[in-house]
Order: sequence, then structure tokens, then C-alpha cells
Amino acid sequence: MISFYPGPSRVHDEIPAFVKDAFRDGILSINHRSEEFMAISHKTISLLRQKLDIPKTFTIFFTSSATECWEIIAQSMVKAGSYHFYNGAFGEKWFDYTRRLCPSSKGISFATEEKLNLKKIGPLKKDSVLCITQNETSNGTQVDMATIRALKRNHPECIVAVDATSSMAGISLAFNAADIWFGSVQKCFGLPAGLGLLICSPKAMQRAAYLGERKHYNSLTFMSEMMAKWQTPYTPNVMGIYLLMRVLERSKPIVAVHKKVIDRYNEWISFLSERKDIAHLVKNKAVQSYTVIPVSASPEVAQTIKSQAKKKGMLLGEGYGIWKANTFRIANFPALKKKELKKLMRFLKHF
Ligand SMILES: *Cc1c(COP(=O)(O)O)cnc(C)c1O
Repeated sequence: MISFYPGPSRVHDEIPAFVKDAFRDGILSINHRSEEFMAISHKTISLLRQKLDIPKTFTIFFTSSATECWEIIAQSMVKAGSYHFYNGAFGEKWFDYTRRLCPSSKGISFATEEKLNLKKIGPLKKDSVLCITQNETSNGTQVDMATIRALKRNHPECIVAVDATSSMAGISLAFNAADIWFGSVQKCFGLPAGLGLLICSPKAMQRAAYLGERKHYNSLTFMSEMMAKWQTPYTPNVMGIYLLMRVLERSKPIVAVHKKVIDRYNEWISFLSERKDIAHLVKNKAVQSYTVIPVSASPEVAQTIKSQAKKKGMLLGEGYGIWKANTFRIANFPALKKKELKKLMRFLKHF
């Protein structure tokens, strides 16, 4: 079965061989305080920096998931409050989770077809955290780098935090345009689930140190102390980190991956524009995601496509939330092969 689900999605073909290597070399049983683990952890962090173009000054942490990153930010970074700009289910969930810990947090929603309009944002509370979902996996929209950069420029006294879960390792992210970035590996990285990444600017680390929040096993200050020794406060997903290292070793620099993803996105756009019964869910090209392609159809057609595709060995992503019945989603993640893409297009040509 080829999974076009936008996460967990298709994993790289090499994963079974890497898992075998991990077992053979005893990686699956190593102690997370050992020199051996620290070497793997250090190397993985260096490869992330190198392959994803993450600035040297940023600190990279391992977490268990993107959801955990939401909570880490809420507990360790939000003191004065936070503002959540969202247009879909993931951004809203982030707001919901934060609000439970920080009741003064505010949600500001915008329409699916609308570009996040910074001019409409009034004055914001000083020292607050501004939360953006760069790639909204639920409806296949994105916030571009220029907007994120401008938000930070307009509010230099705030911390800008970006959920890039379904775009990290798929497109080039302008890390300098924000203070905190995070994601997890079961989307564009093409890896099995169970590992998240949290990436913090020097300003974010200074803020965390200044707030000094230490109530949790995953308080950012504690994580930072452990990461100075390439370690985590808890026993991490060692196999996940090892697999990430092996995949990164052989992956192309992000500029090359970015180009491949954009080329395929353009193919999808022109393909969908020629169909009769199906169309891209989002009309405004300026906000379309590069890595998640949401397709709308009548509920009957959407259902037929999903079930027939499955019979042909292709798993399509369900529509999300309010779009459940009349959409399906296609991952445009780098691990998918060209011939798999072609197979799906050949099938969808009939609609
Ligand atoms: C998948 C996803 C998440 C949740 O990731 P987990 O690793 O399951 O916690 C959060 N935000 C976005 C935008 C996502 O696509």
C-alpha cells in the first residue's frame, strides 16, 4: 500500500535496512547516557543543521512529538500570554491546548482563502508569544516566509513560534524569520512516528532562561542543560534518532528537496485544473500549501475515489474536520516516488 496520507506517510525504502543495522549494532539497547548515544545524538543534530540550513546559533532539541512542542512552549515560554493566528484544525488545537495552561491566550482566526493580514493585527501585549501554523495540514494552506518575517519585524518585543510539522524537511524554511520552529518526523522526513524536533533561536533561549520555568520533565531550561551533553531529560526514542541520522546522511540539501517538492506541487496544480469532478480545495494560489494537496469533490465522488484508490493499493488522506465528507488530501512529501505520483494521477484522470 502506498500511503499518500499527509502523516504518518510513506517512509523511505531504506528504513527496514536501517532498522536491521540498528539491531545488529546494538543501537536498540544502548543507554541514553552513554558515549555511544551522545555521539549519535550529536551527529544527528549536526546533520539537521547542515541538511536543513539551520543557523549555527539555533539550539535543536529532540521531543516526542509536535504536540509536546505545543506544551513545552505553553509552559516554558508563555508568561505574558500568547496570540494564535490560525485558519485550520491544527492551529486551533495548538490554541486550545495552550489556553488550558495559559487562560489569557488569545485566538485570532482567519479564513482559509485569506492571506494572514498583518495590517489587521492591532497592538499586541509585550513579551507575548505569537503562534503561527506555517503549513496547515488540515486544509492545505500555508503562511509564507515573508509574512512570518514581517510579523517578527513588526513585533520585535515578542517571540514568534512556528508549527512547521508538515513542511519541515520538505521546503526551505527561513529559520531566521522566527524564534521557535518545530515539527515531527512522520511527515516530510519520511520516518516512522514518535520523534519531534524543537528549534530555538538565541533570543528564544534567552527568554526561556529569563523565565526559568522548571516545573516539568520537559521544561525548556532543563532540556537545554541536558542537550549541552547531547542528552534528553527522559529516555528518548533512540531508534527514531538513529533512523533520522541515517536518512539525513543520504538526503539532499534542502534547496534541492524544496525544488523537487515545488515542481511536483506545480504538476498537481495543473493536473487538478484539468479535472471535471475534482478540484483543489483552495482557490487562492497565494495560500496553497506546497506539501499537502487538499482535493474537493462531491461527497459521493470523494467516497468512491478513496475506496477505489485503496483497492488499487493507494491510501489517500481523509478530509479533516468540517471537510471530512467532501475532500481528501494528498501528501506531497519528498519520500514519495515519481512513479507512485504518476500511478495516482493515472487513477485520478478518470474523474
Ligand atoms: C501532524 C501535525 C501535528 C501533530 O504532530 P504530532 O507529532 O502527532 O504531535 C501538529 N501540527 C501540525 C501542523 C501537524 O501537521
